[in-house]
Amino acid sequence: MTNFKVGIIGAGPSGLAMLRAFESEQKKGNPVPEIKCFEKQDNWGGMWNYTWRTGVGKYGEPLHGSMYKYLWSNGPKECLEFADYSFTEHFGQPISSFPPREVLFDYIQGRIKKSKARDFIQFNTVARWVDYLEDKKQFRVIFDDLVKNETFEEIFDYLVVGTGHFSTPNLPYFKGIENFPGAVMHAHDFRGADQFIDQKVLLIGSSYSAEDIGVQCYKHGAKSITISYRTSSIGSKWPEGIKEKELVTHFEGSTAFFKDGHSEDFDAVIFCTGYQHKLPFLPDNLRLKSKNCLYPNHLYKGVIFNDNERLIYLGMQDQYYTFNMFDTQAWFARDYILGRVSLPSKEERTADINKWMAYEKSTVTGADHVDFQTDYIKELISLTDYPPFDLDKVADMFKQWLHDKEVNILNYRDQVFTSVVDGTEASIHHTPWMKEMDDSLERYLDEVTLDDEELMKVNNY
Ligand code: FAD
Ligand code: NAP
Ligand code: MG
Repeated sequence: MTNFKVGIIGAGPSGLAMLRAFESEQKKGNPVPEIKCFEKQDNWGGMWNYTWRTGVGKYGEPLHGSMYKYLWSNGPKECLEFADYSFTEHFGQPISSFPPREVLFDYIQGRIKKSKARDFIQFNTVARWVDYLEDKKQFRVIFDDLVKNETFEEIFDYLVVGTGHFSTPNLPYFKGIENFPGAVMHAHDFRGADQFIDQKVLLIGSSYSAEDIGVQCYKHGAKSITISYRTSSIGSKWPEGIKEKELVTHFEGSTAFFKDGHSEDFDAVIFCTGYQHKLPFLPDNLRLKSKNCLYPNHLYKGVIFNDNERLIYLGMQDQYYTFNMFDTQAWFARDYILGRVSLPSKEERTADINKWMAYEKSTVTGADHVDFQTDYIKELISLTDYPPFDLDKVADMFKQWLHDKEVNILNYRDQVFTSVVDGTEASIHHTPWMKEMDDSLERYLDEVTLDDEELMKVNNY
């Protein structure tokens, strides 16, 4: 055991990747520091730990979860697969490329359950405040044990923040919305499309939440879906019943008025306007301030806080890659904490950050963004011993996926990809996504045999 202490805040995929990175080192017989992880929910998995609640959790904390019933992976699982734990290793059989939430949650847990990680996590414990003790070069973190209703503090030499950034809604105001008679909510509080059956739904925003919540409402029987965009439309070939419109200007009663002069009545409004990086437990000089982007400023290699070398952030970027990116970040952070990666001067780090930010600025298309994040992960892998995988092939799969969504937004989840980790070709799910109303793990793994006619429908939506 090395004689220092590492604190991890959050046991979502990022925090768990950090625990796993240290564990892989320990397994090699190498010394690792003392580690403690604190998680405000009563289980691990972050976003993937589904909750039916909205607003506040059991103990009155702002609720973390933004996922909903019927949520299926929106990217191919082959693009997020852990390089050291394949889907086939976990499920013992090929599965489809776009599994539902519960299946991905099971997969995340599979790797971590094999370790002793749970022993290092204190659940129902929320980080309230962090001070940096300049003289000792240590962090003093104040926590609340929500079950005992007790406050305590811990001291760490390194602090890893893995609290996610898709939890605190960005909720803009539109004139007249306060008098809208129907349901008004943010995507963060959306828990499934059931309540919108037969309704005319207006979605504001044009990114992943708008796209998926729109398609969910369509699938589950909403009367119509209108997606209102500020900067650019999603641009898919929408089926009849879904359309895109320029931005809403204001509301009068249940009528929404749009920039192009169009007006229309709605039953419900869902703000799909993204999230804020909200880190209320960190003081000004340690707090990452960023919008949702591929390279947040002030993070060297996207991980080490430039103004305090002992503060590490995981998963703070916008995400094409997810679990495998968090892994490469965690492996890099581990090697850095263990003293294997030497840090250049602050000026050199700033120059490196600026180089990446300029690169991001030069990106335009979805394919450019994929290339950006691919290059970023390649660099991290070159600095650590995370098992290399064919990132160029993964980038190609992402581009195929972007194309598939453009061609047909309703059946892109029926397409299959091949794992770069173990070569497994995904199987076609027994039921076309548009017909599959049950998102449970049991149903997903069930051997359901469809007749030929039904299988034909896979590509007919
Ligand atoms: P999170 O998963 O958000 O976990 C952060 C953890 O930190 C949480 O457990 C939280 O309780 C804890 N925490 C926060 N604050 C504190 C505190 N002060 N003290 C203690 N603990 C704290 N990715 C995909 O790959 N595929 C998908 O299909 C997909 N769908 C998504 C759908 C939605 C609606 C959203 C919002 C995200 C989706 N994502 C998807 C992206 C998702 O962000 C990542 O997959 C992943 O969950 C991020 O991991 P994380 O650990 O960084 O953050
Ligand atoms: P996001 O990608 O950050 O997009 C935010 C959207 O809000 C953008 O379209 C933005 O438009 C718009 N917006 C912001 N402020 C606005 C304003 N004042 N007026 C109008 N529009 C405004 O956030 P997100 O779509 O919520 O996605 C977050 C994460 O959740 C992503 O990682 C995504 O993959 C994940 N997700 C996954 C699924 C799934 O199916 N598995 C489903 C939902 C979400 P501009 O372009 O104009 O800025
Ligand atoms: Mg986005």
